[in-house]
This record gives sequence, C-alpha cells and structure tokens, in this order.
Amino acid sequence: MNIADRRKRLQAPFHTAPCGGLGACWQRPWAARKLASMPELPEVETTRRGLERLIVGRTIETLVVREPRLRWRVPQSLPARLEGKRISSLGRRGKYLLINVTEGSLLVHLGMSGHLRFLAAPEALRVHDHVDVRLVGGGCVRFNDPRRFGSLHFAAHPERHRLLKDLGPEPLGEDFTVDYLAETSRGRRVAIKQHLMNSRVVVGVGNIYASEALFRAGVHPAHAAGRISRTRLERVVAGVRAVLEEAIGLGGTTLRDFVGGDGRPGYFKLELRVYDREGAACEQCGTPIRRTVQGQRASYYCPRCQR
Ligand SMILES: [Zn+2]
Repeated sequence: MNIADRRKRLQAPFHTAPCGGLGACWQRPWAARKLASMPELPEVETTRRGLERLIVGRTIETLVVREPRLRWRVPQSLPARLEGKRISSLGRRGKYLLINVTEGSLLVHLGMSGHLRFLAAPEALRVHDHVDVRLVGGGCVRFNDPRRFGSLHFAAHPERHRLLKDLGPEPLGEDFTVDYLAETSRGRRVAIKQHLMNSRVVVGVGNIYASEALFRAGVHPAHAAGRISRTRLERVVAGVRAVLEEAIGLGGTTLRDFVGGDGRPGYFKLELRVYDREGAACEQCGTPIRRTVQGQRASYYCPRCQR
C-alpha cells in the first residue's frame, strides 16, 4: 500500500457502509465512538477463546479470498497451504491470532477495524466481508475489515516469522516481570507509556490500556522509564496485567453473542478511568483528567494521582 492510499484509508469514515460489526452503531450512535477504536489484545484474546470451542478439531475445506488487498496482499498460495488441514489449536501472540494446523499457522491480524465471525450456516455477504475460511461439513470463519489494515499470512514456523520474531514477552505471561521491566528500562529516558507501547518491550499494550494501566499504577505517563523505582515498576506490571485481565474477563461475558449476530465479542467494554475523559473528575481524587500528546498519541492522566 502506498502512502497516499494509506492516508485516504485512514481518513475514511468508519460508518460509510452498513457493514457487519459496525451495524449496531446505526441504531446506537452513542456507541459509535467507542466501537471506532482498534481491536487490541483483549479483543483478540476474546476472539481466540470464542473461536476455539467452535473450530479446533475441524478441517479447513477452502479459503475464499474476495479481496486480497489487505495491509499486505494476501498471497495467492494461501488457500492451497490450508486446504484439507486440520485445525489443531488456536494461539495468540500479541495482537496476532494463530490458527494452528500441523504444518504451520495462519496468522491473522485484525488491523484497525477487522473482526472475525463464525457462521454455522451460510449467510448473505455484508460489505467488507473479505475472506472466508470454510470448514469441511459446514461452517465458516468470516473476516470483515472496512479499512483493510488487517492481514493474513501462512507461517510454517510462526515463532520465526518476520512479524513475530522480534516481539517482546506477553504481558500476561510469566516473562513479563518487574525484573524484566526494570532491566529493559535501565538508563532509558523514554517515557514509560511509550516504553510499554513498544512491542519489542512487551506486546499488545495499546494506547488505551497503557493509559489505564499507568493510572492504576499511579505513575505519570511521561515519567522517564529509567527513573522509576522498582516498587513503582512493580505497580506498573500489576496495572498492565489488571487492565488486560479485566477487559478479557468482560469480553468473556459476551462470548455467547459470538456466533452470528454482530460478531464483536468483548469489544471495548472496559470501564475507562482516564482514557478519553479529559476534563472529567478523577474518580479517586476529583481532579480534572488531563490530556497530553506523546509520540503523536493522546495520553490521559490524573495530575494528582499520577506522578
Ligand atoms: Zn486523581
């Protein structure tokens, strides 16, 4: 994709078409702004859990690619690599969903606006339904992505794939510890929020979750990573885990809606305490929440609770 194309797509409004998952916004305009956020780690994990019980053990009949022009062009060889293969498990690495077959994995990234739905029976196509993974004996996983920043790749060895090999540890895994965060922060002047959002440091901590985690930790988002005490870094690690676990837990409560319907399980249910709340009272101390810009991304924080 060239830069002009990319810019055009970024500027395109979300609600130009009555497409799959965004359909609900037409009836609920108040929900539109929240839905217009990117799928982050909790959404991908919720999708993984929702699909797991539906497709593990099933065999892929074929892949139907209606629109190959995603963030990276879907390779023509992709269907042939998956046809007839049995799905052994579903994994996740950062924001990549891994549909594992014996010979490798289909890596799915939802980009800025993508989502997957499971259809038990054939259903009419909606706008932006770009790819179907059809299963032997019926049923299909349908990929919808209005902005087409999502991607599909086959990897024989996913851990060595160029998109995954340099990723840092999982924030909910056992390698993301205070020792690890202290080690990667040592001597670094980079702001702690940007440090957390660097996928080489830790994967899948997006803008919303980094802001919320730092509020819980009581750490100012612009604080230099290398100058934060170990005790406070411990709170940062706990804050990151807590917000992600909370969001995933909330996502789980919507799993039964996963089949058919609008297919957006668990998207953006987390109660935000600072993010997008500029001027509103901090729920801990009543001070108005402030907004600042770091690395071209908006940061929200309480100037009193976060130092
Ligand atoms: Zn406060």
